[in-house]
Amino acid sequence: TVRVRFAPSPTGMFHVGGARSALQNWIFAKQQSGVFVLRIEDTDAARNRPEWTEGILSALDWIGIRRGSYEGPHFQSENAAEHRAAAARLYESGRAYYCDCTRDAVQARTGSQHKGYDGFCRDRSLGPGEGRALRFRTPDEGATVVVDLIRGEPTFDNKLIEDFVIARGDGSPVFLLANVVDDMTMGITHVIRAEEHLPNTPKQQLLWDALGVKPPVWAHVPVVVNEKRQKLSKRRDKVALEAYRDEGYLAAAMRNYLMLLGWAPSGDREIVPWSVIEDEFRLSEVNPSPAFFDEKKLRAFNGEYIRALPVEEFVAACQPWLTGTETIAPPPWRPEEFDPAAFAAVAPLAQTRIAVLGEIVPNVDFLFLESPLIDEAAWAKAMKDGAGELLDAAVAGYEALADWTAAPLKAALEEVGTARGLKLGKTQAPVRVAVTGRTVGLPLFESLEVLGRERTLARLRAARV
Ligand code: GLU
Repeated sequence: TVRVRFAPSPTGMFHVGGARSALQNWIFAKQQSGVFVLRIEDTDAARNRPEWTEGILSALDWIGIRRGSYEGPHFQSENAAEHRAAAARLYESGRAYYCDCTRDAVQARTGSQHKGYDGFCRDRSLGPGEGRALRFRTPDEGATVVVDLIRGEPTFDNKLIEDFVIARGDGSPVFLLANVVDDMTMGITHVIRAEEHLPNTPKQQLLWDALGVKPPVWAHVPVVVNEKRQKLSKRRDKVALEAYRDEGYLAAAMRNYLMLLGWAPSGDREIVPWSVIEDEFRLSEVNPSPAFFDEKKLRAFNGEYIRALPVEEFVAACQPWLTGTETIAPPPWRPEEFDPAAFAAVAPLAQTRIAVLGEIVPNVDFLFLESPLIDEAAWAKAMKDGAGELLDAAVAGYEALADWTAAPLKAALEEVGTARGLKLGKTQAPVRVAVTGRTVGLPLFESLEVLGRERTLARLRAARV
C-alpha cells in the first residue's frame, strides 16, 4: 500500500507552504487508498519547542487534516536508536568513514571557493573517536536518477556529490540520515515535499541504496513565492497559517486556494468544492515552477466563500471575533453590551461586504458601544462646510419621523439634502460619522434602523456639542 508522510520540523509557526504540501500528501494518500503519516521531526533540540508541535497539529486540524484520522504523530526523536544503528551499519559495511578534518583545514586545502569536502580522510581508515564526523562515501562514477512525479527524472552526476556528513562529531545523526531512516522504518513509498529539498534527494537516495532498500518515488512540489518572486519568508511575509485563521480566513477558502498553487481543476474553475479537488488533483499536473502566493486573490476567494455561507453559519463563524479567544483580540465593547438580535439584524448586510471575518468588528461596533469609536480624520473631514446645520436639520426631520425604518429614514435625509442642493452621498457623510464614527460601513439607513431612534438622535445631537 501507498504510504506518504508529512514531516514538519517544530521550529516555528506552521507555514502556508507546509500546509500546501500536507494537503497534497493527504489527497494523494486518499486517492491511492493509502496511509498518511504525520512525523514531527523534532531532533533539532536547540530550535524545537513543544508549542510549535501543538501549533502544527491544530493548524492541520483546522485545514481539514484532523487529529485521529491519520497515523501518528510519530516523533523523529523516538527513532534515535535506529538512526545510530543505520550510521553504524554504513560504517561497518565500508560505505562511510570517520573524518577529523575541521572546516578550516578543508578550506585551506581546497580554497574558499570550493564547495564541499575534498575526500581527505577517505582512505585514512580512522576509527570512531571524539570529534570525528562520519561521512558517507559517495560513488565516484555513474549518476543518481531520481524519479519525481512532478519533475521527471532529475539526474545527478555522482562525481559532483561530495562525501557528506551523516553523523556529527558527537555521534548524533544529521537530518539527511535521520529523515531517510524514518522513511524507511515507516515504510514510506512516496515522498511529497517542498522543492528546497531537491538538492538533498540524490544524497538521500544514495543512502537508501546503501542501506539496501528500494528508494521511494519522489515529488518535489514548487517553492511558494511572494509578489517579488522571493521565496516566502517568515521575517518578510505573512506565512503563518494561524495568522490567516485569526484574521478570519475560512478553512475551506484557504485549502481551496492552497491547492491552486501550481495546479488548477478542470474547466477554468478556481473556486470548487473540496470533493472536486480530491477527485481531480494529480501530482503529475503540478507546475514545477515557483507558485505565487497572492494574498489579494486569497482575500477575494475568502469573500466569495463568506458570501456563500447560509446566514446562520455566517453568524456562527463570526463568534470568535465577537467575543475574542486565546489568539483573537476581544472586541472593543464589553460582553454585556453585545446584543445578539441587533447583530442578527445586520449580519446579512455585513456578510456581503467583508472579505475576512475579523472585519466584522469595525463594521458593527457602533451598535454595541455606548458611543462610537471616532475616526478623527474622518470626523474632521465630514464635519466642515455647513455639516452642523445639516445635522440640526436631520435631527429635526428624524424627531418628527413616525416610522423608524430604513426607507423613511432615507427619505427624510434625502429631503434635508435636496433643500440644500446636496446629493444623498454628501448628506449622509456627517450623519454616518456622527453615528458610527467612520466614513465607510454598512448601509446607513438599515444601520440607523437597528441602532434605534433614541441612540441615533443622541449621537446626532452629541455631534453638535
Ligand atoms: N523536516 C523537514 C522539513 O520540514 C522535512 C523534509 C522532508 O519532508 O523530507 O523541511
